[in-house]
Amino acid sequence: MDNCLFCKIVEGTIPSNKVYEDDRFLVFHDIQPAAPVHVLIIPKKHISSMNEVEMEDFALIGELHKVAQEVAEKLGIAQSGYRLINNCGKDGEQTVHHLHYHLLGGAKLGALVQ
Ligand code: C5P
Repeated sequence: MDNCLFCKIVEGTIPSNKVYEDDRFLVFHDIQPAAPVHVLIIPKKHISSMNEVEMEDFALIGELHKVAQEVAEKLGIAQSGYRLINNCGKDGEQTVHHLHYHLLGGAKLGALVQ
């Protein structure tokens, strides 16, 4: 997808600090970490947001959770716990319009919803 930052990261035209890669997913460190561990898990397929996930994509999104499990283990936060977050749209404060999940951990994270 032209002009998509994360598609450029997938292509390698914009560098990233990679944690995991396979033919369908890429995981890299967030450039502005909000926790001691903060990585982004993205499908290589361009999907703009959660709202654009189609029926044919749900298996891929399911597999993304397996990647999250494995990366949490690899980064040493599986046992202490973590948060997996998708921001969608304006009120969700989504700033990059390529579906991504934030995997955050390495410290006790404050409650988001009271
Ligand atoms: O969910 P949201 O769209 O707000 O998150 C986008 C994330 O992408 C931000 O946390 C930002 O720091 C990160 N980012 C990045 N590398 C870039 C541009 C943005 O890790 N080159």
